[in-house]
Amino acid sequence: MNKNSSNIMALAPNTSNKRETVCIFGTGDFGRALGHKMIQSGYSVVYGSRSTQVSNLIPKDAEVLGHAEAAQKAAIIIIAIQRQHYNFLTPLAEVLHGKVLVDISNNLKLNQYPESNAEYLAELLPGSKVVKAFNTVSAWALQSGALDASRQVFVCGDDVEAKQMVMNIVRALGLTPLDKGSLLAAQEIENYPLQLFPMWKFPMFLSLGLTAFFFVYCVVLDIVYTYIYEKNDFSFFIAITIPNRVCPVMALILLALVYLPGIFAAIIQLYRGTKYRRFPNWLDKWMLCRKQLGLIALAFASLHAVFTLVTPLRAFASWRTSKGIISQALNNKTEPLNTTNAWLSDSYLALGILGYFLFFLLGITSLPSVSNNVNWREFRFVQSKLGYLTLILCTAHTLVYGGKWFLNPSAYKWYLPDIYMLSLIVPCAVLVVKFVLIFPCVDKPLTRIRQGWERNPKHSE
Ligand code: NAP
Repeated sequence: MNKNSSNIMALAPNTSNKRETVCIFGTGDFGRALGHKMIQSGYSVVYGSRSTQVSNLIPKDAEVLGHAEAAQKAAIIIIAIQRQHYNFLTPLAEVLHGKVLVDISNNLKLNQYPESNAEYLAELLPGSKVVKAFNTVSAWALQSGALDASRQVFVCGDDVEAKQMVMNIVRALGLTPLDKGSLLAAQEIENYPLQLFPMWKFPMFLSLGLTAFFFVYCVVLDIVYTYIYEKNDFSFFIAITIPNRVCPVMALILLALVYLPGIFAAIIQLYRGTKYRRFPNWLDKWMLCRKQLGLIALAFASLHAVFTLVTPLRAFASWRTSKGIISQALNNKTEPLNTTNAWLSDSYLALGILGYFLFFLLGITSLPSVSNNVNWREFRFVQSKLGYLTLILCTAHTLVYGGKWFLNPSAYKWYLPDIYMLSLIVPCAVLVVKFVLIFPCVDKPLTRIRQGWERNPKHSE
């Protein structure tokens, strides 16, 4: 064979790439989108429909037949029909016997039925092999190719061979199958698309609650108090001044709350002398949403940076500066440079900039695309060591900002501390306990416990 003829062979359509025939019951949105994708991937598609009339919307290379006739043409049948219509399948039990039925259905509410749709299908057709798959992929994503965010396809089923056949289709479509085990997992898989940011709920509610509290706290102390005692209307503080006081406070508290559950876990393990007993539920849940807490904290820190950068543009800032200059001119005397204050203000800014830089680095490494490219030790180094360094820098930034202000009685309007003082409670507590935990006399037993040592092993002979 000469070189030219081998090139011609390579360009000719590769008929051996043609895959098996797959049957799809239902020519609705999902059935059509999946059919399109399957034909693109080399499958022959035959639709089982109530109407055998071919419409423009149906992929042009697909066949449309009655349900029984279509089912006979394939070993795998994808049921792209809502659960409430499944009983039309019962008369087809004979023709569906031994076939792989792929349940892709979702419900409208969490735990809408006592059993999952896939288990219900398996009960209706005990002679068929039911596999749950594709329910977390949307028809729109399949059709538009926008599958980057949802490449994972959860697959579960009792028949291992049937599950493998479905996983092969998933791979052929350019998606990633994730085996979730037996059909018992179907309920959980069906609940996935109905959940609304499950890991974000607690961090969101906590942030909203704390933000509302601190906002009102600042309104009372900075606006209401000033109005009552100084007769000044500072209500415009609501737009920038107060948000710029609340954002750093929230960022610092939430960052400390990322590290606080680790401290509780260490204390519990030291107290129990084992790592083999489960943490209380609340602590488990808290640990699981640390990444979300950290990302919300980063969002608050970023807002604080932006609010601070626009401060010189504000009418209030230029009024205050010109007032200072004019009063110096009127008194014919300039204030000498206070180097202590200059040091404090520069250190405060430098600590804030460094803290924010590390905070940003922490946020980036928590992105799956980055964290997938670092090993466990590197990830721990960034999240734990650099994380604590970030907390130290941000706490120091706030401490230097306050300076000796907390000793000044005028800092306590209505005997209430300023919010920056409140924001220091949790981070300082976390840092002090962490400092105690790294003492060798505490760290050594803790490390041994984490390596599997037990103070009172239950199973010792
Ligand atoms: P759809 O557009 O309403 O289509 C459902 C199809 O079911 C109809 O086109 C019809 O096909 C068939 N059908 C309707 N009533 C029937 C009956 N009484 N007996 C027999 N067949 C009947 O729904 P869809 O959006 O394609 O969703 C289909 C399934 O996929 C649902 O279970 C849904 O939960 C699941 N799903 C959908 C998406 C999505 O993005 N749409 C994503 C994941 C999962 P014929 O006219 O050809 O018979």
